[in-house]
Amino acid sequence: LHRNAGEPEFHQAAREVLESLGRVITRNPEYSDEALIERICEPERQIIFRVPWIDDKDQVQINRGFRVQFNSALGPYKGGIRFHPSVNVGIIKFLGFEQTFKNALTGMPIGGGKGGSDFDPKGKSDREIMRFCQSFMIELHRHIGEYVDVPAGDIGVGAREIGYMFGMYKRLNNRFEAGVLTGKGLAYGGSRARKEATGFGTAFFVRSMLAQQGKDMEGMRCIVSGSGNVAIYAMEKVLSFGGKIVACSDSAGYVVDEDGIDLDLVKQIKEGKRGRISEYVELRGGKAHYVAGGQIWDVPCDIALPCATQNELNGSDAKTLVENGVIAVAEGANMPCTPEAVHLFQQAKVLFAPGKAANAGGVATSALEMQQNASRDSWTFAKTESKLEEIMTNIHAACHETADEYGAPGDYVLGANIAGFVRVADAMRAMGVI
Ligand code: NDP
Repeated sequence: LHRNAGEPEFHQAAREVLESLGRVITRNPEYSDEALIERICEPERQIIFRVPWIDDKDQVQINRGFRVQFNSALGPYKGGIRFHPSVNVGIIKFLGFEQTFKNALTGMPIGGGKGGSDFDPKGKSDREIMRFCQSFMIELHRHIGEYVDVPAGDIGVGAREIGYMFGMYKRLNNRFEAGVLTGKGLAYGGSRARKEATGFGTAFFVRSMLAQQGKDMEGMRCIVSGSGNVAIYAMEKVLSFGGKIVACSDSAGYVVDEDGIDLDLVKQIKEGKRGRISEYVELRGGKAHYVAGGQIWDVPCDIALPCATQNELNGSDAKTLVENGVIAVAEGANMPCTPEAVHLFQQAKVLFAPGKAANAGGVATSALEMQQNASRDSWTFAKTESKLEEIMTNIHAACHETADEYGAPGDYVLGANIAGFVRVADAMRAMGVI
């Protein structure tokens, strides 16, 4: 603990994985040889750097940049970049740790990493965003590369920010190395369906969990926290499966619409004008209402998809959801449910999908973007989406079968942790003590 002092989110993520590993180590003691568990919990490299930039008032601003290169046993480090004022090394470490197992679960050749900055994009002009991204890349560029480390987007980082970062990387290296970043715009090497992939993947995973019990999403009430990239496309796919979205949110509050959330309007507000979800009510009219602050989890539903941020759903929220009859919860975000919430869902036999399985569709499609870049190809939306669907079906099967194999049927947390761990551990063991 002293070694990772002041990093509660990292402790939380590591504890959850380590708690699942008892069964695999009892059965295969070689997995605990050569300090493998200690090595897997220690990032290969952590980089912290100064990001100076000049705001629109000509003032110099300083932020802190991070890149944690956690594990490269399966391939180049791979994981998003987050811009949010809450970012610190502990948050980036927890995300990098989770990413390592998630990436392993996809079955693709990618290691785990994560990065970001405590820069707050809210209220910044487009020029300020550009200058910040350029300064961030002036340092980051020496640590990444298509065979080294391949960042993507995350909270506060979408196609606009990736574009500015790619432009600066290209200028600094004097080469068009498309595979160095994913989540790129279609105009310069991006993949179709990448923007939609994380949210779509979460909905595919929920569909598989329900199908396992002979159910489908037709007519189910669904609530989704957040209204960013993951939330929007999770809603889109749930709608296509016949579900009804009754509420979504942002960090200031949530909106309830019993007529069903108008997704085009949400896209217009969040993707178009980068506005607030509170604007939905006035633009929509009808029965919709907005609750400032408060907990979206109070809204009764069959399916709950936390798609905003870590620890946004606690034990008391889980209790409310269970009392209101929720049957499935899937983490579109990374670690949005506290350990107490996860425990309550599992106790109540609610289908529960952990983020490292349920939101792996984003990084899987990033790996598909890398494949297209490497072969200088560009696939259709349908082809890319069908590969994503197949990957999510396989991840669901791997988690489900692993849970069965280790005597915990229906425990997707245990299944995901063990299936991801075994793949990383086997590769690390084969490479000796490095
Ligand atoms: P976006 O920035 O597009 O959207 C984030 C959403 O969550 C916004 O609605 C935001 O509200 C809300 N939010 C962010 N921080 C907080 C907070 N501290 N409290 C309450 N609400 C908050 O991010 P993404 O959709 O890309 O990411 C959402 C989650 O999904 C993250 O956990 C991320 O790690 C995870 N994820 C993302 C992937 C991707 O491909 N983008 C892949 C896998 C996981 P507001 O606008 O008010 O800040």
